[in-house]
Amino acid sequence: MGFSNVYGVPRWGQRDDVGAAVIDGKGIAAEIRAEVAARVAAIVADGGRPPALATILVGEDPASQVYVGAKHRACAEAGIRSLDVREPADCGRERLIEVIAELSADPEVDGILLQLPLPDHLDGAEFVDLIPPAKDVDGLSTASTGALWRGRGALAPCTPSGVMELLGRIRFDAAGRRAVIVGRSELVGKPLAAMLLAANATVTICHSRTVELEATCTEADLLVAAVGKPGLIGPEHVKPGAVVIDVGINGLGDGIAGDVDFERVAGRAGAITPVPGGVGPMTIACLLRNTLQAASSQ
Ligand code: NAD
Repeated sequence: MGFSNVYGVPRWGQRDDVGAAVIDGKGIAAEIRAEVAARVAAIVADGGRPPALATILVGEDPASQVYVGAKHRACAEAGIRSLDVREPADCGRERLIEVIAELSADPEVDGILLQLPLPDHLDGAEFVDLIPPAKDVDGLSTASTGALWRGRGALAPCTPSGVMELLGRIRFDAAGRRAVIVGRSELVGKPLAAMLLAANATVTICHSRTVELEATCTEADLLVAAVGKPGLIGPEHVKPGAVVIDVGINGLGDGIAGDVDFERVAGRAGAITPVPGGVGPMTIACLLRNTLQAASSQ
């Protein structure tokens, strides 16, 4: 079954040199950010207060500092107010509980994002669970996870939301399709499985202990890689015409690469996301949208 006629519309960046339609995550993310900015501007024009996101960063992990900085810049561009709460690396358990409680009680804060990972002496899952579901814009708490699986309208984790949004914008209808997700993390693989099930796909999750990974992947109409191993997915894993979504971000000496061997897989897939410029930009766009949603429902 070939998908390229559906996904090969010029808007998604058909590239003659690779065969597959290359899904323009950067462009789609920019559209979502512009949509959020327009809705924020309308709220403010109506005399409302702009949505507000608080991030909490504990310690000085360089990658986390970059991620938090990018989130604040994106908020500023969308007209969302952001609070940058920082605690030292030796922040104690009681102090972090207090910080989260203060932000939870603050009626002017709509969303709370605890940047992970935390320093080793703090258990991230314990603190994420202290964020009230209505402010859990990362959608990673136990309560949000349960609500997602129950289909109860929770704020959903940003990266799998970004994947679903990409699928929606290329008009991929998951109903009745075979979806295979490689990776079972709480952050990506598991919540994406819940979302694809809700969209009526038949979902398989593969992981590090899966046997016959290749055979399972080749059954997929939709193949999602969220592993963290550059080039793990090659053309031998891909059914001709399948949609291939690469969530992986792997630092290489001179840039980043995904989990999919892009150049070789693109010759076989119907549509594919590049790295960079695919799923990555969608994560922040969906965080902005979740913050707007949290503000609207409070
Ligand atoms: P993780 O380390 O928590 O999970 C990796 C998963 O891959 C595990 O479930 C593991 O069982 C599975 N796995 C490992 N080796 C495997 C193998 N050989 N075959 C099959 N499965 C295997 O990672 P994560 O947090 O889900 O992140 C995965 C990747 O996605 C990373 O590269 C990460 O940087 C990236 N990521 C990107 C975004 C984004 O915004 N685009 C967001 C989150 C994560």
